[in-house]
Amino acid sequence: MIVSTLRSLALRCPLCGKLELHQISLFELTGYSPVKVNCRCGFTKALVLTKNYKKISIQIPCLLCEEQHLFKYTCRDFVEKPILILRCIETGQELGYVGTDETINRLMKQKQNDLESIFNNFGFDDYFTNPQVMMEVLNHMHQVADESNLFCSCGNSQIDMDVFPEKLELHCPVCRSLHVIYAETYEDLRVVKQARIITLTEKGFTSLDSSKTNPSLHS
Ligand SMILES: [Zn+2]
Ligand SMILES: [Zn+2]
Ligand SMILES: [Zn+2]
Repeated sequence: MIVSTLRSLALRCPLCGKLELHQISLFELTGYSPVKVNCRCGFTKALVLTKNYKKISIQIPCLLCEEQHLFKYTCRDFVEKPILILRCIETGQELGYVGTDETINRLMKQKQNDLESIFNNFGFDDYFTNPQVMMEVLNHMHQVADESNLFCSCGNSQIDMDVFPEKLELHCPVCRSLHVIYAETYEDLRVVKQARIITLTEKGFTSLDSSKTNPSLHS
């Protein structure tokens, strides 16, 4: 029997809401460091890890309960089961699937109008005012955060982010300052991309808004 060493993972991003299929190759799982599964917005949706190929674990930040869930499988189940369902441990809702491309695609067709399912059509593109701009803004924000250039002037660098159809809100949980980033137009995107360092004002309110910036700054 031939066992495929490629598995597909279907998972919706808890940050931007986009559903994507990812390929996981068993050869990438070395046991030293977890394989990161990243959304196009830059958010790490899942970590896949193994110990000696006996067990394979998937860790995902849950989009429903905001906890981290850890799913463990034997290597055999992982590669041989046509489909594995990842469920939120708190709510029991389906969060994602691991399986063959074929089974996942079939499931996607079956469930595309099922509101309870992660595969329904009422997702990403309908939610955002401008999905393309939002995606690139999120991407940029992750770069800035990865380079440790996102922080609050109170000294805290653990910044919370809420995603809305047309904007992002960055909150400092320590001093409760708020920073709003608009992500509606290409002009908004241009303004965001110029910000290599984003600092929240302690206890204050700031925003990145293309309609308010002085055009002479960009010439
Ligand atoms: Zn995302
Ligand atoms: Zn959950
Ligand atoms: Zn602060």
